[in-house]
Amino acid sequence: MLDADFFRRWMTAATVLVDREADRLTALDSPIGDADHGSNLQRGFTAVAATLEKEAPDTPGAVLILAGRQLISTVGGASGPLYGTLLRRTGKALGDSPEVSADQLAEALRAGVDAVRTLGGAAPGDKTMVDALVPAVEALGDSFAAARTAAVEGAEATTPLQARKGRASYLGERSIGHQDPGATSSALLFVALEETAGE
Ligand code: ADP
Ligand code: MG
Ligand code: MG
Repeated sequence: MLDADFFRRWMTAATVLVDREADRLTALDSPIGDADHGSNLQRGFTAVAATLEKEAPDTPGAVLILAGRQLISTVGGASGPLYGTLLRRTGKALGDSPEVSADQLAEALRAGVDAVRTLGGAAPGDKTMVDALVPAVEALGDSFAAARTAAVEGAEATTPLQARKGRASYLGERSIGHQDPGATSSALLFVALEETAGE
């Protein structure tokens, strides 16, 4: 079973990865965006880690709801509300149990990803974070490792796509040939999840 401490460690692991990969995320956002994705998420996850440390919510749902709220209020741009919605909706779906199973987390994350799709209007293949999130939550029923692999492969598979949502879509065909920054950062969430589960 996964308790609040597991979820706090997951968010901390995500913060470490976002810090480490921030320059790369911003570089990916340079040719097909406005070169701020790494710094946006770095600001957001730094706030998430600080708030979780201070408030130490005592259920899995409360950890994710608080993290999502922080992302919405500190990350500017498209990705803040989308990631905030992902975590808040997932947290709500977990309810107020002190511990949840991996299957419950998988189901809650599917609800979170559905909320991202509703908010942003992106479908798989539109070259957005949805291209990493959807295969990841589909694979999560198997294992955390399978979800991580599916997310990383989903992010890599955005390279040949033409963007149909977000800032990159303004470039039309010129968005082809670049990996989507948001799909890349979404994969980091699942790398962090696998790391946390494997500790
Ligand atoms: P901004 O584009 O406002 O500068 P960021 O650079 O932080 O925001 O985030 C860009 C990422 O957000 C994109 O790479 C993409 O994955 C994601 N994104 C943008 N618009 C959408 C959308 N409508 N649905 C899903 N994801 C989106
Ligand atoms: Mg940007
Ligand atoms: Mg921006």
